[in-house]
Amino acid sequence: MPRPIVAHIHPDAVRHNLEIVRQKASGSRVWAVVKANAYGHGIERIYPALAAADGIALLDLDEAVRVRELGWKKPVLLLEGVFKPEDVKTAETFGLTVAVHCDEQLELIAAAKPGRSIDINLKMNSGMNRLGFTPEGFRGAWERARATQGVGAITLMSHFANADAHDVDWQLDRFDAATEGIPGERSLSNSAAVLWHERAHRDWVRPGIVLYGGSPSGVARHIADVSLRASMTLSSEIIGVQTMRIGDTVGYARTYTADRSMRIGVVACGYADGYPRHAPSGTPVAVDGVMTRTVGRVSMDMLTVDLTPCPSAGIGSKVELWGDQVKIDDVAEPAGTIGYELMCALARRVPVRVSAAHDDTHAGVAEFAV
Ligand SMILES: *Cc1c(COP(=O)(O)O)cnc(C)c1O
Repeated sequence: MPRPIVAHIHPDAVRHNLEIVRQKASGSRVWAVVKANAYGHGIERIYPALAAADGIALLDLDEAVRVRELGWKKPVLLLEGVFKPEDVKTAETFGLTVAVHCDEQLELIAAAKPGRSIDINLKMNSGMNRLGFTPEGFRGAWERARATQGVGAITLMSHFANADAHDVDWQLDRFDAATEGIPGERSLSNSAAVLWHERAHRDWVRPGIVLYGGSPSGVARHIADVSLRASMTLSSEIIGVQTMRIGDTVGYARTYTADRSMRIGVVACGYADGYPRHAPSGTPVAVDGVMTRTVGRVSMDMLTVDLTPCPSAGIGSKVELWGDQVKIDDVAEPAGTIGYELMCALARRVPVRVSAAHDDTHAGVAEFAV
């Protein structure tokens, strides 16, 4: 028998969350963002849930090819565009749409002389200062793109730096001023802007984290009014029980001291499974459906939980590390990170099961992370 830890992936939850996005941005088409192997879920596992999306966005060429091989006929967008001359050939062969954020990428397309034109998302750096042409240089870039042989339809794209803090107007104003009169569709909104900035929705939206039920701000209560569902559940079992007396400590570095007599449970889950080592004592966890908290340091293969609220729990009791009951952001936040990182960091050694429709616990085929 493997250790009792398992991650369940729920395609139904992704389908549901995509529907919520559709309702929020009803006038826009939706790029479902599945970069980083669908935020750690496995593209193939959630692929059937993406049928209602208008396009799939990612940034790894191999992932783009995988999506085509699954049979996806609608657009596929490479969010960082091409890196090398041969990538243009791949884009042409598989009919990929590519971001273009610099002149070097336009030159790669021109040099490849594609037989079939390649649609592009011309990217403006409206303030994020990662990728893109400056607002001042954008019109010139658009004219050069339009004059580049092999470039097809041009969508105008930018990315928000702080949409989860309700801080998009400065970038929107720059984008609108710099694109005034330029034809073409617009694509701006990540998950935060989908939820909170209707003015930014435009022709295409690009949600990622909300498809997986995570909070764009990393704070679970910020999405409490949106009925998203968790698409990943990490669960395990209690494999040991200890009774601590007042003054006893638990785990490495003895960071937790019992202030009363208490039972603790040892859970088969540690940082080598992707659980954050920096989660402090007090991080929420559910045992047999009862909310409780971690105590002491997370170690490589185990962590420890307070069994005071669940006196009947013992060896074999079910533990939810994150999922619908324990919000992934409520685990991430005290550990100084965000749900995005925990999803992406699910370790290869954790067996993964895909839930069948309407069964979120035991159905599905066991397999290992890809
Ligand atoms: C990752 C990414 C998104 C999606 O971001 P979320 O915060 O997960 O919604 C959208 N656009 C671009 C360019 C991205 O890189």
